[in-house]
Amino acid sequence: MSRFFSAKYNTLTPYTPGEQPRDQQYIKLNTNESPFPPSPLAQQRAQEEAAMLQLYSDPTCVSLTSAAAKALGVAADEILFSNGSDEVLNFAFMAFCDADTPAIFPDITYGFYKVFAQLNGIPYEQIPLKEDFTIDLRDYAARNATIFIANPNAPTGLYLSLDKIEQIVKNNPCSVVVIDEAYIDFGGESAIPLTKKYDNLLVVQTFSKSRSMAGARLGFAVGCKNLIQDLNTIKYSTNPYNVNRMTMAAGVGALEDVDYFRGNCRAIMDNRSWTTSELAKLGFTTLPSLTNFVFTKNEAISGKEFYLKLKSKGILVRHFDIPRLTDYVRVTIGSAEQMAAFIRTTKEILEEMK
Ligand code: PMP
Repeated sequence: MSRFFSAKYNTLTPYTPGEQPRDQQYIKLNTNESPFPPSPLAQQRAQEEAAMLQLYSDPTCVSLTSAAAKALGVAADEILFSNGSDEVLNFAFMAFCDADTPAIFPDITYGFYKVFAQLNGIPYEQIPLKEDFTIDLRDYAARNATIFIANPNAPTGLYLSLDKIEQIVKNNPCSVVVIDEAYIDFGGESAIPLTKKYDNLLVVQTFSKSRSMAGARLGFAVGCKNLIQDLNTIKYSTNPYNVNRMTMAAGVGALEDVDYFRGNCRAIMDNRSWTTSELAKLGFTTLPSLTNFVFTKNEAISGKEFYLKLKSKGILVRHFDIPRLTDYVRVTIGSAEQMAAFIRTTKEILEEMK
């Protein structure tokens, strides 16, 4: 730290992204990326747009916003695009939380929520999940706080049904409820239609997972016009050109290529079922996942040891050194070949331990 770093960040602990090692070629099942390339149409649009990079991108994201509005069945002024969904989540912390309106979220969830609260000097409360990692709805009734819920949750993969999400939104009419749907396309039902009914609901999604565009950085929020206007105030006060030209063009292509998107989501869900049943045969307990990853444990091997042994054999998964999570590893669902290699290697590891 330099001697110039503001003291207001003394207690800030930055987010730790998953490992991106360069020492060897790994089968990468640790950062919930898609194993499939972006849609050919998305790639083509990005390539064409590259010739225009001398010009700033459109701060209003008109082309993308109107394509998304059509696809999602909402109005264009009910959507805001961002540089990855992380950016719009940060905007939501900035716009809807302060000393009088703290942020609340589960104790086990996406690690960035805590960082955004700390970064912005916002008081926050982490509400313990139940023993089985599910949410107790009573913890989220009539709270004078902005509520952040990842649905499905990470790293557990557990999905909260839409009627429960609606109860939370309904029970907090004086608070904004942010539902982070980064993984919603792998079997869950989106809360986006509920934004028509509730002016305190903001739904956040990303192109990083189901649309294979993690490297392009594209996310968005959907909510009533006034909530989106507030987020725009923050956006235009930080970085009006937050979505670059190539990403914007690729996003339109990705939205147009519906069959490619659906096919990839289906493949991930099929590979998830296969992986879960193979893991069960090997004595693993896997939480029911509606995401592109599974959270799994086996009494025969600690989470840390399993992670380290997989890594030594060229497969990266994610281990969280946190008391309630330490038995588990989180395994991204990749291609059928990658999952076959993961299961084969897991068998080998368990054999070697006998
Ligand atoms: N929300 C959740 C729950 C996530 O797991 C992630 C990805 N790490 C994000 C948001 C952010 O994704 P991105 O910024 O790539 O859109």
